[in-house]
Amino acid sequence: MSDLQAPRPVPDGERVVRTGGDGTDGIVRCERCGASEATLNVATGMLRCNFCRFEWSTQNALQAFDLDGAIGDLSGVVVGSGTADVTADPAVTLRCTACGADVVVDTTAAVHARCHWCRNTLSLTEQVPNGAVPDMLLPFSVSKDEAVKHVAEFVRKRTFYAHPRFRAEFQPENVMGVYLPYMVVDVNAHATVTGEGEHQTRSYTVQVRDSEGKTRSERRYDADVYDVRRSFDLHVDDLTVESSAQRLDRDTARTSNNVINTILPFDVENGVLYDPRYLQGFTSERRDVDVGVLRPAVLGQVSDIARWRVDETIAFYDRGVRWDTTDVDVRGERWVSAYLPVWLYSYLQTKRDGSTLLHYVAVNGRTGETMGSVPLNVPRLALVASVVEVFGAAAAAVLWVLT
Ligand SMILES: [Zn+2]
Ligand SMILES: [Zn+2]
Repeated sequence: MSDLQAPRPVPDGERVVRTGGDGTDGIVRCERCGASEATLNVATGMLRCNFCRFEWSTQNALQAFDLDGAIGDLSGVVVGSGTADVTADPAVTLRCTACGADVVVDTTAAVHARCHWCRNTLSLTEQVPNGAVPDMLLPFSVSKDEAVKHVAEFVRKRTFYAHPRFRAEFQPENVMGVYLPYMVVDVNAHATVTGEGEHQTRSYTVQVRDSEGKTRSERRYDADVYDVRRSFDLHVDDLTVESSAQRLDRDTARTSNNVINTILPFDVENGVLYDPRYLQGFTSERRDVDVGVLRPAVLGQVSDIARWRVDETIAFYDRGVRWDTTDVDVRGERWVSAYLPVWLYSYLQTKRDGSTLLHYVAVNGRTGETMGSVPLNVPRLALVASVVEVFGAAAAAVLWVLT
């Protein structure tokens, strides 16, 4: 199969859809008692008044801002205003000096915060310019108790190989709820691929005579050769990509392999209007990557999707297709920034040489999907590997005896 060409980016200018508030005091009051304090009730996914317990849900964000229209009608670049470059905000971002993570603190409520990666307490002295408020947010629907169970179960299955110190210090109740920044992207594209395919028409056996005059049977195949062309519209809905530079960092020397992507997907279509009260009791991490930086990765994924879809249409060519050209033409893109809910259990491993490696178990705050890494007990792992090798050698010896 030929290499895919990078899709051509959309040439038009951006159309910005405003998703922020109306610029007034921003206080949203309880419909029933007028109080302005409320928090997320994870069991219902609704905001609950701290005083009278009245509950209400906020509007679906994509519908409210008309950001869920037909992808086929999409042209040019449409972005939520929450995807724009970093601006000042009442919330303050602290950079954790222990692990380098950026932690958002709502300064109207607290001046300290715990880092959700390494659980250090941060104070206001380590401030960096702040990230943006997202276009939408998906509230937690998996409770802390459920998250603790998921983390405990994940680690229990790996206890045998886990580092003894990690096992001794393991406390799943230290799991923390954090809203992580993602971009949710729709793409309207047209893909055209061309190549050559073969379809077998007949198979039969012939007798052939070799140079010494002996005859033997030989299998023959007849095939028709076709020029193959596929040209189709491709609508990519709710592609979800991380928008934190640190989480995009694939360097496994600093952080254990990237597990946040493995707990996808999120039901982003149920995202609601951003409201800081959803963040009460949770932490959040600012977005620090802009649309322009993420676009090449997104368009690369669009090309991959085109390739998978075209492979579904070539069953007729039972002897295979060789693709020569692939062209993906992007007609429209839509970008929405979102906070998505993740429960995190983190563990900062200090190795013998003094270097550190961040491990974590992540639980999707909507589905409970759990993935992570635990520090390994290397001697025990090596022992198991050598036992397998001995068994392998024994099996090979038995085979040799039988033949
Ligand atoms: Zn109330
Ligand atoms: Zn930290």
